[in-house]
Amino acid sequence: MTNDRIGHLPNHALITQNQRIAWIGPDSEVPTKTNPTEEINAQGAWLLPGFIDCHTHLIYAGCRAHEFEARLEGKSYQAICAEGGGILSTVNATRSATEAQLTEEATKRAQDFIAQGVTTLDIKSGYGLTLESELKMLRVAQKLGETLLLRITKGLLAAHTLPPEFTSKDDYIDHIIAVILPEVVKENLAEYVDCFTESVGFTPEQTRRLFQAARDNNLPIRLHADQLSNLEGAGIAAEFHALSADHVEYTSESSVKKMAQSGTVAVLLPTAFYYLRETQLPPIQTFRDHGVPMAVSTDCNPGTSPSTNFLLALNMASTLFGLTPTESLLGGTINAARALGLQNEIGTLEVGKSADLALWAIDHPSQLVARLQSPPLLQSWSSGNRGLPQQCSSI
Ligand SMILES: [Zn+2]
Repeated sequence: MTNDRIGHLPNHALITQNQRIAWIGPDSEVPTKTNPTEEINAQGAWLLPGFIDCHTHLIYAGCRAHEFEARLEGKSYQAICAEGGGILSTVNATRSATEAQLTEEATKRAQDFIAQGVTTLDIKSGYGLTLESELKMLRVAQKLGETLLLRITKGLLAAHTLPPEFTSKDDYIDHIIAVILPEVVKENLAEYVDCFTESVGFTPEQTRRLFQAARDNNLPIRLHADQLSNLEGAGIAAEFHALSADHVEYTSESSVKKMAQSGTVAVLLPTAFYYLRETQLPPIQTFRDHGVPMAVSTDCNPGTSPSTNFLLALNMASTLFGLTPTESLLGGTINAARALGLQNEIGTLEVGKSADLALWAIDHPSQLVARLQSPPLLQSWSSGNRGLPQQCSSI
């Protein structure tokens, strides 16, 4: 895969060494001095870069199925939040859960992703909203990266919603900046800072203050932007050179232009769009026209996208948002890598990159987007370490 297309290299070999891709070339030109410890004949299967889910809220406790029913009866997400549902109900359950309980539940979900060829998974905090419980979530995320064959990236999303201990959003943003962020930086528990900019989240001005604090701590930023209304969140993110603006259903063309200038990736989350039965489509053609890279992710979370089904998200990006299968696949590989700032490390098969690989029993990669069946994964490798395909419980 390159930046804008999927290449096809039949009768080629790929050599890994020290967890990295060391050589790619025709079978006939494999260096003769190579003495591999293991050789795998793919027998016509496709070797692709491992998939990257660049936006999940994988770690949580509790269940919000009752909200699903309320929404079907016509209640809006904003109304559910106003009644103490939504994110806050997950916050209460997650605060009560032990680190071991959270780890056990999140491990099951993570294994679903591994079974679909995902080798990098982004996890955000944001269901704790106190120093102690935000650190707890991020430590669980870190532990998953140490125990599973997955690269885990971690984002501090303390600015997810207003916790019950605060009555003023401004005061809570001050608390994040003065107390939570410095400790997370000190313990090196997050690679970036995130925020939910929305009427049920935080204002553009509060977002700017938080982003400035992230910048002062040399942390990149990403943003939940323009999901339910247009607060020009994606434009604000771009002003701060954010890695990505995520959701972006209501993003305006002026914000898209700013994203193009700053190289900010548009992360599309079609499963949440589907689950909330939204009707405002993200401006896909405008992203294309201005050359904004588009990534695709599950947004795995308990309320608005209770899905670990990565391949279904790729399918929905095409069926609901109109991405070509190639665009969806690039959205789950190189553009997702960009959204994490890891485009030089993962996302394509290139010499020097990490050996994050997936071997598929398919005739063409577009099948992974087109079909709604069990993932035809034969084998995956995370940093050169072989992961056995596992039964995927979500498909
Ligand atoms: Zn999210």
